Amino acid sequence: MNKNFKTKGIIIRKVDFGEADRIVTVLTEDFGKIDCIAKGARRIKSKFCGRLELFNHVLLNCFQGKDLAYLNETEVLGSLSETKELDRHRVQFYMAELTHKLIQPEQELMGAYRLLQDALRVLDDTVKYETVLQSYLIKLLTLSGFLPPWNHCSSCNDKLDLNDPIHLDHLDRHVLCSSCSTADDAPMNIALIKWINYMQNYPLSQAIQVQPEEKDQRFVWEWLQNLLDPLLSSPLKSEVFLRARL
Ligand SMILES: [Zn+2]
Repeated sequence: MNKNFKTKGIIIRKVDFGEADRIVTVLTEDFGKIDCIAKGARRIKSKFCGRLELFNHVLLNCFQGKDLAYLNETEVLGSLSETKELDRHRVQFYMAELTHKLIQPEQELMGAYRLLQDALRVLDDTVKYETVLQSYLIKLLTLSGFLPPWNHCSSCNDKLDLNDPIHLDHLDRHVLCSSCSTADDAPMNIALIKWINYMQNYPLSQAIQVQPEEKDQRFVWEWLQNLLDPLLSSPLKSEVFLRARL
């Protein structure tokens, strides 16, 4: 990274710092997740006034200091969230917090910026909040390498034959082919395997067109929780609000 750099990004977190500064966490197009300090951003006449809001799509012009990047200028390219709808906000906050927790500082996770951009756009255009969130989580976990493709066995890596019985491993996290599963592993419903694999592979706007049965959607929540629990050091603050709705 050069001392002075420009990049596009989406603001996923903001915290007040010192007397009048603000630190924003931005998922960027070029440098992964970065923290920037905006000096004086909380002063009424600040040049950053109104620009550093959550989910704003911004062009950043920064100076890289020893520990932190300093924001020189920012231009709002668009707000990806103009909604005032509470349920949609709950999903957005959860997405932002989870993205922040799963992606390490300066980790250049290819595709994460585009994925968040897509998810926020799709979310502004649909009421299928739950399906958008599930698709987003599945895609983000796949991109991060925490979720292997659900068309291969997680143990021997052979392509799954959907005519054979397929099981979920004893931790209820990953799929196993008939040769790798034991009596302790739970049998899986083929439609569910296809749906999860579809969400992994198709663009989010397409993935949400499939409407799963309610019991499958409930299963996916529990399964996602099993995957996420060991990855998160503490529960997400936004989860309580999300659960109040979903
Ligand atoms: Zn296998």
